[in-house]
Amino acid sequence: MSVVDDVKQKIDIVDVIGQYVTLKKAGRNFKALCPFHSEKTPSFIVFPDQGTWHCFGSCGTGGDVFTFLMKRENIDFGEALRRLAQRAGVELVRESPGEDAERKRLREILAMAAAHYHYLLKNNPAAQHARDYLAKRFIAPETIEQFELGYSLDDWHATESYLVGKNFSTRDLEAAGLVIQREGGGQYDRFRGRLMFPIRNRSGEVIGFGARTLTGEEPKYLNSPQTALFDKSGTLYGLDLAKDAIRAQNLAVIVEGYMDVIGAHQGGFQNVVASLGTALTEKQLGLLKRLTNRYALALDPDAAGEEATKRGLQVAREALGRKSVPVPMGAGLIGFEERLEAELLVIPMPPGKDPDELIHDDPAQWANLVEHAEPLVDFNFRVMTQDLDLKTARDKSAAVKRLVPIIQEIGDAVQRAHYTQQLARLVQTPEQTIAQQVAGRVVRRAQRAIEPSEQAVTPAPRAESKLEEYLLTLALRTPEHLRRIEFLEPEDFVEAEYRALFFALSDSMAQADLLDRDAFRESLDESLRPLCDQLLERARQLPEMDEPDLAREIQTVAYRLRLQRDKSELARVEVILRDQDDERTTEDETALRARVDFLGRRIIESQKALSARTLFKPRAYHIGMM
Ligand SMILES: [Zn+2]
Repeated sequence: MSVVDDVKQKIDIVDVIGQYVTLKKAGRNFKALCPFHSEKTPSFIVFPDQGTWHCFGSCGTGGDVFTFLMKRENIDFGEALRRLAQRAGVELVRESPGEDAERKRLREILAMAAAHYHYLLKNNPAAQHARDYLAKRFIAPETIEQFELGYSLDDWHATESYLVGKNFSTRDLEAAGLVIQREGGGQYDRFRGRLMFPIRNRSGEVIGFGARTLTGEEPKYLNSPQTALFDKSGTLYGLDLAKDAIRAQNLAVIVEGYMDVIGAHQGGFQNVVASLGTALTEKQLGLLKRLTNRYALALDPDAAGEEATKRGLQVAREALGRKSVPVPMGAGLIGFEERLEAELLVIPMPPGKDPDELIHDDPAQWANLVEHAEPLVDFNFRVMTQDLDLKTARDKSAAVKRLVPIIQEIGDAVQRAHYTQQLARLVQTPEQTIAQQVAGRVVRRAQRAIEPSEQAVTPAPRAESKLEEYLLTLALRTPEHLRRIEFLEPEDFVEAEYRALFFALSDSMAQADLLDRDAFRESLDESLRPLCDQLLERARQLPEMDEPDLAREIQTVAYRLRLQRDKSELARVEVILRDQDDERTTEDETALRARVDFLGRRIIESQKALSARTLFKPRAYHIGMM
């Protein structure tokens, strides 16, 4: 994962933009008065699921979180990256010595605290009840070592005194999340009399703690607060120990609790991690995406657990890899649909048992359950219809509405047909009727994305970013061809780093006839060079193509990129127009309608250009005719 992706995953675009404009919730999204043009009703929308924003008013601009900051603060991409990386707690290769020293100190404090808690667990008489608890849960001494489990003394200042004695300031301890400032002055230890679970990042460095009560005190589990190092929603417990097994077995098993992870690893099941808290987040899935595309969730079997599973999988569907699949759209055009690239499974836990108990009691049964984990689609068929009475017309229709979006995302055509049949049988409706609904296309799905419906399916911006990346790869291979796509603007790129690279490349080509790639690379901001190198490498790996074909290809991709961008904007504007907004002035309404007309015209232009291209016969045919 690039630093840019890492930052994007850890930054909440709503927080960042919310510092500049007043955002109002609108369904799954947020709206505000556009900060880039003057308007009376809000047409500036932030799409948190996609990490993008767009102004549907007269300025018509949009982009991602970097683009917003660049435009708003009038800074370049590198500066935006540096600011957001600092905010996200992501280390850039070169950062200022001050920040680096701060984070290093926090890591030292946490490592020292973990070692101290661990020592107390093993040696302090007061930790006897913690040792008893672990023995009762069948946790072996080697496991206690491996996870460096610990114990915090039931004392208001024990941790503080110990670490201050090691020459750390109370300010540092507070920054590390170990002490809490008292309102009237002074401070006290956050963790007291609890079983301590050090939480590590994927490199194995301690970044925070989970702490379990041993006396029935609330809350049962207490976590470190958000710090410069610790972001609960972007961390998976056990990932440092599980990552190799996840990669090797091509399967990540996700459980709920610390003890489940520990029990699983002790039982020899090393591909197990836990989300910290019940609902799985996009950031957590982002961490796993680099290791595998198969995920199995083993969450609490009670109702709450099923709910969490449902929600977790909803997030999963939205966060995981999608790939653009070319589909014929009539008139000789090829469109792109997004399909999920991941395989999602649900482990059906027997009632009343946690994974760690089950693994201890019957490891073979656990292995069997994991092996026979139920595909998400089957699980959804079961769970999403259990509150419906499928004999009534109304509930049949509800079932179709809930399940069709799920079937649409299945990448494999045979499987898609299978579930289409299954749904038809379930609601006793002709298969043809269901199949027609399943065949719904991208534009309709993009519209759904901003309707506040329970089943909204949000296309991640990946299809666009793939095209953006491919276009830049072609442009870097033969930059002269950029002149053939002069109609394309940096604004056509949604992702800031692609936009910045396109801008730099166009700029270089405007100044010289030929591109000196080394000089170009050097002229880039340091933050853009890794992307440039990556794309140059891809450009070298492109299949052999002669220049006329390459020129045609780059034009095709450029039109397709613009078409895709315009279509998704059009769909969104239409939804906004349909939405009765009493605050909207006639002026804004006119502006929105003008935008619809403009986009409609441009879509037709792009479609014409693209279909004209499909009329070109491959060169082989021409030879015969000449
Ligand atoms: Zn605007």
